Amino acid sequence: MSQGKRVVVVGAGWAGLGATNHLAKQGYHVTLLEAGSYPGGLVAGWKTAAGRSVEAGIHGFWYPYRNIFSLINELGISPFTTWTRSSQYSPAGLEVESPIFQELPQLPTPLGTFLYTQFKRLPLIDRLSALPLLYAVIDFDNSDEAWRRYDFVTARELFKDFGVSARLYHESFEPMLLVGLFAPGEQCSAAAAIGMLYYFILAHQPDFDVVWCRGTVGEKIFRPWVKRIEKCGAQVLANHRVTDLIVDGNNQVTGVVCNDEVFDADAVIFAVGITGMKKILSSSPSLQSRDDFRNVSNLGAIDVLATRLWFDRKIHIKRPSNACFGFDATTGWTFFDLNTLHDEYRNEPGTVVEADFYHANQFLSLENEEIIPIVQRYLANCVPEFWEAKVIDSSVIRLPQAVSHFAPGSYRYMLPAKTSFKNVFMSGDWIVNRHGSWSQEKAYVTGLEAANLVISYFAEGTPAKIIPVEVDETHIQLARVVNRTARQIGKSILPEFWLP
Ligand SMILES: Cc1cc2nc3c(=O)[nH]c(=O)nc-3n(C[C@H](O)[C@H](O)[C@H](O)COP(=O)(O)OP(=O)(O)OC[C@H]3O[C@@H](n4cnc5c(N)ncnc54)[C@H](O)[C@@H]3O)c2cc1C
Repeated sequence: MSQGKRVVVVGAGWAGLGATNHLAKQGYHVTLLEAGSYPGGLVAGWKTAAGRSVEAGIHGFWYPYRNIFSLINELGISPFTTWTRSSQYSPAGLEVESPIFQELPQLPTPLGTFLYTQFKRLPLIDRLSALPLLYAVIDFDNSDEAWRRYDFVTARELFKDFGVSARLYHESFEPMLLVGLFAPGEQCSAAAAIGMLYYFILAHQPDFDVVWCRGTVGEKIFRPWVKRIEKCGAQVLANHRVTDLIVDGNNQVTGVVCNDEVFDADAVIFAVGITGMKKILSSSPSLQSRDDFRNVSNLGAIDVLATRLWFDRKIHIKRPSNACFGFDATTGWTFFDLNTLHDEYRNEPGTVVEADFYHANQFLSLENEEIIPIVQRYLANCVPEFWEAKVIDSSVIRLPQAVSHFAPGSYRYMLPAKTSFKNVFMSGDWIVNRHGSWSQEKAYVTGLEAANLVISYFAEGTPAKIIPVEVDETHIQLARVVNRTARQIGKSILPEFWLP
């Protein structure tokens, strides 16, 4: 156990809490500084003045989130619904229904996804046009080399080059990019697109199965978790915005500046998003002197809008979670039946719906009074009973520049966990690592990885056990070996003349 080593963690989302939790358990003296009023980051939840629960968008927990599920077991809490089915809508109506894949006979990937997903309109010929894309799925193995090969290409170019039909792209792949990477295909890196689709959908048949929290993630997970973290001795300080670092002549950080307060540190872990990091950079001469941190200025983030509407009557919504496309050219959105998902709203006399919009740039400047009728109109397009219903309460949360943008060419500027300072480590869902997970699970895993780097830096404590993603299925492994061998042979014969 480490006695007395002071670690300052900056940012209390999944990454920061994950790092703090493990280091506190190892006996480190950890201070977690959070700019917001409560821990949780993008997943925080809070109550409105009227006492109703709201949050910065609903968050799903997919089948491969093995490390988060293991943490939940360790905490001894049961925050989740059972596995839920979901639907997809366009302005034309219901487009797709997904089963619970783990309940159906297991087929070699991607057959189960292909055969069991119920497409209501998309012709078979369009679905078959995805087959050549399997080569890219095999070729992209999440290695540094593969990222450099695919990151300069846009997802749209990739799908086009592999012969995906226009209809399959517009009605299936682009909607998935809008809800998975929060941006339209022409603004997503092809590397991120294949990595994300493989992790959430293609690697194993059950991967697309999802559970939701039975309330806000803040209330159901973070509150008990933060209590446990504080019990282990860590200090969690909200309303503490970090502005700079203090560096000695030996390339080591010795303190973390929060406006006019300084927290002494033997090591620092950053666990803030891209926008948060850019803000710290703008006020920090110590970070501005470093190439790696200055390059973060080349990265961007995406606007999101989270709305919650209370209606005066009960409306039957077929599935609790729904993704929608085709309403705005470059915005995806999802809606959730909270009477089914959240304990708090189960016995509500009316309907409570969460509708979240991704890449919502054009909505953020509208007044709430303008946004709510748009949301109601969109909902009514999917479930006509919403036309007649009256909105009796609503919440609109604007999240400008909130989620990481995996733009084409951005990989080279994303930071790895180790930085140019000996004792400063990075974590968060935009940090380069090789685990293969995405979103909340990735943020949590990078938090554990940063904690492990601190442990190895001081050679004190036991590293956190990180559960790897499930291994590739045998036929995928074989195809990858063959492909890698062919690439190596090609490399040994041909000069490195062309762009990767
Ligand atoms: C609407 C929406 C829906 C989403 N849906 C899903 C989903 O269904 N499933 C899923 O897995 N993921 C989803 N995500 C993505 C998920 O929220 C993120 O991947 C994850 O929460 C990132 O965690 P993090 O710890 O890396 O960063 P964050 O959660 O961004 O935490 C960073 C923290 O750092 C703090 N901070 C910033 N600057 C400073 C500073 N100077 N000093 C101190 N603190 C600072 C911030 O206040 C914040 O609390 C969604 C995101 C949004 C917005």
